[in-house]
Amino acid sequence: MNPHIVAFGGGVDSTAMIIGLIQEKRPIDLILFADTGGERPATYAHIENFSDWLEKQGYPRITVVKRVTESGEYESLEEECLRAKALPSIAYGYKRCSQKHKIAPQDKFCNNWQPAIDTWKNGQKCVKYIGYDANEEHRAENAAKREDKKYDYIYPLIEWQWDRQKCLEVIESVGIKNVAKSACFYCPSSKPQEIVQLYKEYPDLLQRALKIEQNAELISIKGLGRNYAWSDVIRMHEAQMTLPFVGFDAPCECTE
Ligand code: SF4
Repeated sequence: MNPHIVAFGGGVDSTAMIIGLIQEKRPIDLILFADTGGERPATYAHIENFSDWLEKQGYPRITVVKRVTESGEYESLEEECLRAKALPSIAYGYKRCSQKHKIAPQDKFCNNWQPAIDTWKNGQKCVKYIGYDANEEHRAENAAKREDKKYDYIYPLIEWQWDRQKCLEVIESVGIKNVAKSACFYCPSSKPQEIVQLYKEYPDLLQRALKIEQNAELISIKGLGRNYAWSDVIRMHEAQMTLPFVGFDAPCECTE
């Protein structure tokens, strides 16, 4: 059978997807998580706990991959932003941050993974499970327009029509706890309420996000919120003012 690979996002959707696949006894040969270096501590803890759970069910632990520069060194997205005096590219409307720090490290791993190499040598494709939920059919449709010689894509949550609520219920039903939304803590797609939550739960991470924002040389946009700065969100929250900002949703390759 051709290798079946899970693109694990570290959050609710892909955790529920894996549980559903196991309940249906569908094959899983490899579970990949691409670490940008910017996840919240709760997500890193979940990866370890969930790996232990997977192992007990007889499935592979999660394999963590990271972006490595041409000189062979690991560079997190945060370090790259500080070095380039820029924000994650999604703030400018591009997908490069997810392509470079999430998709490319997974592709690179598979390009050197013998079961995938053998499959491609035989002129066949690997299967990749993606955790788009039932409300993200448009993302699956857009992805289907791209021709891919190496992978066939399957979207189990769409197949089962599982939305986020259903995913949470499935996770709870097997006793897995503390699964949070996964994304870089400085992700420009964060909603203003999520920025305030970061300020309350992880003030040290918020300070690091603000450092990225302050360090960036910005011309066309105002800050991590694109048309507003995160520092303004915090200033207004501290002054107990109503936040007039709305977040933006830009398409990227990140899954939860
Ligand atoms: S979570 Fe946000 S900042 Fe991080 S890689 Fe994805 S789009 Fe970029």
